[in-house]
Amino acid sequence: MIFKQLFDNKSSTYTYLISSGKGREALIIDPVIENVTEYINLLKELDLKLVKVIDTHIHADHVTGASKLKDLTKCSTIMGEHTPAEAVEIKVKDDEYINLDNLEIRAMHTPGHTSDSFSFLMDKYLFSGDTLLINGTGRTDFQNGNSKDAYNSLFNRILKLPDETLLYPAHDYKGETVSTIGRERKYNPRLQVKSVDEYIEIMNNLNLKKPISIDENITRNLKLGA
Ligand code: FE
Repeated sequence: MIFKQLFDNKSSTYTYLISSGKGREALIIDPVIENVTEYINLLKELDLKLVKVIDTHIHADHVTGASKLKDLTKCSTIMGEHTPAEAVEIKVKDDEYINLDNLEIRAMHTPGHTSDSFSFLMDKYLFSGDTLLINGTGRTDFQNGNSKDAYNSLFNRILKLPDETLLYPAHDYKGETVSTIGRERKYNPRLQVKSVDEYIEIMNNLNLKKPISIDENITRNLKLGA
């Protein structure tokens, strides 16, 4: 299997490239528009054919490269079924599988950060979008975010996965690249709460700044960056 974790410095976004092997089909999760040339070069270098691109949710902090990648490679665009982006070709349901050669990726609806947020599980690899971050969780104060939904997605879906599941989030702001569900369950400060109300209380008092260019980014992401 080929697995590459790529980083966007400006938005601290992680983009993932997956393929079953050289010369085969590839899939990209959460591409950033400014880095599309880098992805195309990497695909060429590894002799891969990009067939699918997934956005875990409508991002507020960067513009997706999905539409640009589709124009350049004819790949299909995928998001969860609750996406407000009409341009998405394949809208996957909760627990639906996405195939890539012999690889299977399970779509999991994990709302909370946004109402359209999905996580994607491939074998032991969990691509959590902004639902679960390393030592953190996605904010819930815009795009139909909801702390109660986030709690449910975290405690009743994501944390039900085995401890050894590898956590690959959509962002990290401190240079962390990977964690495990076991490690997050034990040490992630947001996951040490005793009730849903305690979680809501924490999320209601984060007092975070609005992301730069959020309105422009969302408008463009509703068209997949076109
Ligand atoms: Fe986000």
